[in-house]
Amino acid sequence: MCEMPGGAAVDLFELLSVCVDLSMKAGEVVREVARGEMGLHAKDEHGDLTGVVPTLNEVQSGVDVVTSADLLAQGLIEGSLVCEFPGLRLVGEEVVGADDLKAVPADRSLVFRLGRGGEVQRRVVDMSEVVVYVDPLDGTREYVVGDRKLVFVMIGISYRGVAYAGVVHQPFEGECGRTIWCMEGYGCFDDHPDRSENLLTRVAPSRDTVVLVTTRSHHSEAVDVACAYLSADEVIRVGGAGYKILCLARGVADVYCYPSPGTKKWDTCAPEAILRVATGGKLTDFQNLPIDYDDTENVENYGILATRESEYHAVCSERLFGGGFCRWKELNERR
Ligand code: AMP
Ligand code: MG
Ligand code: MG
Repeated sequence: MCEMPGGAAVDLFELLSVCVDLSMKAGEVVREVARGEMGLHAKDEHGDLTGVVPTLNEVQSGVDVVTSADLLAQGLIEGSLVCEFPGLRLVGEEVVGADDLKAVPADRSLVFRLGRGGEVQRRVVDMSEVVVYVDPLDGTREYVVGDRKLVFVMIGISYRGVAYAGVVHQPFEGECGRTIWCMEGYGCFDDHPDRSENLLTRVAPSRDTVVLVTTRSHHSEAVDVACAYLSADEVIRVGGAGYKILCLARGVADVYCYPSPGTKKWDTCAPEAILRVATGGKLTDFQNLPIDYDDTENVENYGILATRESEYHAVCSERLFGGGFCRWKELNERR
């Protein structure tokens, strides 16, 4: 990898360090908001605030929501990143005004203290080939109803269109949260309060059954059809894209399948990088195509098929796409 002449440069290790630090600082904000008034609001189909405060029942039955924690965490991460790395391409889930951007100082070498230690490395690239995706709070519905283990702060770094590095932070694991981060060609680290372990050293679980993980709140006929094609022995229905992809990286599940549009690139960028670096897993959309993270115009994924091992992705994609993509399109249009 070399520095391109002319364009602004960024060191991916410094960028990742800042993202890891900011994810933990955003986690503090998420915990702080949970102790008081959450500032709950419904979003419309474009992701804009409606001004309506939904009931808990409405939240549980699928209304898209946002809280003060989503907005404050977005303001902190985005404000600090654009200040540390002027000119960085950044796509965030929440839209916050200039007054709500809050820049805090961030540590540019944190990953070396949390990771393998040793010498500080450099990986300097052209900034125009990098995009950072911010989901300041994945699992907002679960946050509101109190299912806090499903809540993540996620910051993904794509390089040349591929999910390349990233961090997912679970604010409610232990007292100060749990942080998992990775960089292609360097490793994946799990900074749990009790241990700091490279997920790559994990032994794959030995079982001869297939565990599938899928959506809980966006259930549809297409989800049932996809689950049937994959004939899993066990189906776990749970909220949050980050949590589901981490289920694969941790060996809790073998395949994550969601056949319809809905998830966005900020839901998949960081956990996809972790899945690939940690276990050699693979993630595509429901056209069996890799997600192009360089394309920031189209942020919605057409479905997700992710597997803990890349070989198993071929088995699943044959079952799901062997008959072509059209049947999924038809099923989704019938919704
Ligand atoms: P789920 O697996 O249903 O918990 O969704 C994972 C992520 O994708 C969440 O951030 C959801 O907001 C988003 N998502 C999935 N399906 C849809 C949909 N049909 N409409 C809006 N957002 C969706
Ligand atoms: Mg999300
Ligand atoms: Mg979110």
